[in-house]
Amino acid sequence: MIDLSLMKGVRVDPANRTARAEPGVTWGDLDRETQAFGMITPGGIISTTGIAGLTLGGGVGWLVRKHGLTCDNLLSADVVTAEGKLITASATQNADLFWGLRGGGGNFGIVTSFEYRLHPHGNVLGGMLLHPWDKARDLLRFYRDFMPSAPEDLGVYAGLLTAPDGQPVAGLIVCYSGPLEKGDEVIRPLREFSPPMADLVGEIPHLAMQTMLDGAFPAGNQNYWKSTFLTELSDKAIDILIDCASRVTSPLSAVVLEYYGGASSRVGETETAFPHRRAQYDLGILAQWASPAESEQHVKWARDTFDAIQQFSSGNYLFNFLGLPDDQKIDQVRAAFGQNYPRLVELKNKYDPTNFFRLNPNIKPTV
Ligand SMILES: Cc1cc2nc3c(=O)[nH]c(=O)nc-3n(C[C@H](O)[C@H](O)[C@H](O)COP(=O)(O)OP(=O)(O)OC[C@H]3O[C@@H](n4cnc5c(N)ncnc54)[C@H](O)[C@@H]3O)c2cc1C
Repeated sequence: MIDLSLMKGVRVDPANRTARAEPGVTWGDLDRETQAFGMITPGGIISTTGIAGLTLGGGVGWLVRKHGLTCDNLLSADVVTAEGKLITASATQNADLFWGLRGGGGNFGIVTSFEYRLHPHGNVLGGMLLHPWDKARDLLRFYRDFMPSAPEDLGVYAGLLTAPDGQPVAGLIVCYSGPLEKGDEVIRPLREFSPPMADLVGEIPHLAMQTMLDGAFPAGNQNYWKSTFLTELSDKAIDILIDCASRVTSPLSAVVLEYYGGASSRVGETETAFPHRRAQYDLGILAQWASPAESEQHVKWARDTFDAIQQFSSGNYLFNFLGLPDDQKIDQVRAAFGQNYPRLVELKNKYDPTNFFRLNPNIKPTV
């Protein structure tokens, strides 16, 4: 374990619209500092997640359709290599390593400083629209049909969840970051699909959007997550997900669909190590519970759900949602990189031939 949590420096350069941040910084820390200047770099959706692992694995969040992946907004990184050298990776310095850091995870060295591009950013129209369980099927079908033509200012995830009163519900989590005067019109179809039982969408600061779901992922709980991209969100795939979600074993667990595209799909598949530029719906099966004594049943639910939906899996995986290799039934690390895998092995051979950095979703050197 290399503990970088005390490295908490953040420096914002508003004139050049860049920020430098050290690896102990969380998204909450970075958002707070960049928002003081009315700017952001697109990050993840939970403020306690570290910027380092998330950026190195790609990084998806509410603004992925508008500004791309987090790693698409990385301008440079300072890296301590396996042999103990401090080097900088950017488009002009050690460009091969810079390519690998944008999606290849912690395989190549220890990043001690991240430099990000910033974007002006103010309040958003954000929140949840919750529907009763008997609308779940229609809601997911609507989500599937609506998202491909939605503006890139709009990020929406769909979820099958349990409400605080114990009722199963289906919901859309919305973040509209375009001109606010147009917001109500943009999200009108989401409201008109069917009258929601709770409409919690309103104008909120970016920092409120970025912390809105923190309460659903408290520290200390047990978690077992599985994830895969789907080839299509067909009616049959939707039925399977609803069936599995209806048998959920913990009220803290959820099935979530995330639609990306937009700016993230305008970057070429081989331009960075992160290859899944055309994939659209990513499925998250998020099992969460409190007592370690109950683990077996909740892990089983996640695995059963994953197995049931396998027929619709594209065989592609988000690196950031992979577990450690001992839980991988098929070679998901290879699949997480697609056609970029051989180039990553070459990079590993060059920068970490002894596989010093191996306690990660691991790219094995071949030298
Ligand atoms: C509650 C929760 C919400 C999440 N939401 C999102 C989301 O919205 N979007 C998304 O894309 N992902 C999300 N993730 C997944 C997340 O991106 C990964 O778990 C990521 O690894 C977290 O990074 P970290 O720095 O916090 O983790 P750590 O546990 O500190 O690091 C994980 C791994 O990253 C590598 N690493 C970390 N720091 C460095 C460094 N400085 N140099 C080199 N390698 C390093 C190492 O291999 C390390 O083992 C979420 C995870 C959780 C638990």
